[in-house]
Amino acid sequence: MLVDTHCHLDFPQFEPDREQVILRAEEAGVNYLVNIGATLDSSAAACELAAKYAQVYAGVGVHPHEADGFGPEAESKLRELALRKKVVAIGETGLDFYRNLSSAENQLSAFNRQIQLAKDLKLPIVIHSRQAEEQVLKVLKSAMPLRAVIHCFSGDESFLKGCLDLGFFISFTCNITYKKAQGLRDMVELTPLDKLMLETDAPYLSPEGFRGKRNEPLQVKLLAEAVSLIKGVSIGEIAENTTKNAKGFFGLG
Ligand SMILES: [Zn+2]
Repeated sequence: MLVDTHCHLDFPQFEPDREQVILRAEEAGVNYLVNIGATLDSSAAACELAAKYAQVYAGVGVHPHEADGFGPEAESKLRELALRKKVVAIGETGLDFYRNLSSAENQLSAFNRQIQLAKDLKLPIVIHSRQAEEQVLKVLKSAMPLRAVIHCFSGDESFLKGCLDLGFFISFTCNITYKKAQGLRDMVELTPLDKLMLETDAPYLSPEGFRGKRNEPLQVKLLAEAVSLIKGVSIGEIAENTTKNAKGFFGLG
């Protein structure tokens, strides 16, 4: 059994065959999917999917790209969504100083507000960090969420250590299979099995051999195989540990 801890099945790329995608994942042994919201609309869509499909759970949050629109009104709407059934996390939120689609000030404010919301509701938080390692750690250290995962980990060893020292989880995507991603594979090796989770971030980041195509949750299986090769342990052990981590973190099942 495997868990895709971060996918976006509400996105238009899945409009034609969403249900088949979920069934294919199940056939591949990917039994739980956490659909993560990026905007208020996509968070609401995540809740709808969770209501419709037993194996789907929802994260609700506003992505740092959308932080310019995150005022008090958006926050109260997000809080309402967060109270819906099968919502298991706040996110994704965080900081993105690579694309800078929202101002740094608004990103920091939206990030802090969402950590606070997660703490109020006793939910874990799903963090997006791109070229913002130092600032993300600074925010996390002072706001201290109950539980946090760094999604699509792309940082260096010092960021990894900083996150692990705070007790946070690290989630890897299929981009660890890319030929040039040795640096990421080194980070997989350094992440203890009891802190590691798997995700596709579908429709993005298809694994090597499928690049340019839409990604989908069944590829968690291939990702688990890649992690098992890097760590030199059986795929069964990877599945067992990452599923236990995901179930505990999100409170699935
Ligand atoms: Zn995502």
